[in-house]
Amino acid sequence: MSLTVFDRLEPYRKALETERAAGRTVGLVPTMGALHAGHVSLIHRAALDCDVVAVTIFVNPLQFAPGEDLTTYPRDPEGDRAQISEAGATYLLAPPMREMFAEPPLTSVTVGRIGESLEGASRPGHFTGVATIVAKLFAVSGACRAYFGEKDYQQLAVIRRMVADLGLPVDVVGCPTVRDADGLALSSRNAYLSPDERAAAPTLYQALLAGGDAIGAGQRDPGSIRAAMAEVVAREPKFTLDYAEVTAADLTPIDTVAGEVRLLIAARIGTARLIDNLGAHA
Ligand code: AMP
Repeated sequence: MSLTVFDRLEPYRKALETERAAGRTVGLVPTMGALHAGHVSLIHRAALDCDVVAVTIFVNPLQFAPGEDLTTYPRDPEGDRAQISEAGATYLLAPPMREMFAEPPLTSVTVGRIGESLEGASRPGHFTGVATIVAKLFAVSGACRAYFGEKDYQQLAVIRRMVADLGLPVDVVGCPTVRDADGLALSSRNAYLSPDERAAAPTLYQALLAGGDAIGAGQRDPGSIRAAMAEVVAREPKFTLDYAEVTAADLTPIDTVAGEVRLLIAARIGTARLIDNLGAHA
């Protein structure tokens, strides 16, 4: 099926309404573009589950703080379109800023506690920007299944909670992180890495594995697990650690490791700030 591209919200809304009226289910894949195999995996999953797939591309200024990489964020509209079409999507919504927000929004969605730790602590306001834009995309897309990557584990938790709290007609589906062969999680921001930085970047995943190994070896003290991850990052001088954490699977803080937990890490390398995470079981 060929790809229908919209830059206006209303025709896109109507197209999806027409699909649902004809009895077809809608899968939604929100992105900021510069697509890679991680994004494509979400489209494939949505195409397996749903009758039609809508992808959105919007580099959301609300989720970037002043001084972050909004203006340099990688963009590849032609490449994106080819990948989206190839992956089997039916619709692409790629609205310009003035279409998404004729004026800066006065309304925002804040998902309290879950959005305040980790990425929320390092990037104040980030998840309010994410939740606000995703709420708007859900509002214009209507009832659907929406696919998000575990790569952004906290974002997935924020969106799940927003949907539950607000009773939005959306089934949120979390999908596994796609990695390069050396373990580096695919990310649009990997495009910022020089060849040397790219060679060093799998350190982040190795740190998560070290945290997982410590748990596997019986370590139950969160501080020791954080230290095991930090030690791996410290061995690579190109990296500056932002945080290395272990939490419950729902991101609540823990005093001791038990059951399903999540290891989460963020670090800077060159001009890039990379994040990754991994599940572990005690
Ligand atoms: P972004 O364009 O970075 O905002 O990401 C759009 C969606 O793709 C989000 O749901 C991300 O979690 C997901 N995503 C990004 N990278 C990956 C990856 N390596 N594996 C799986 N999903 C990903």
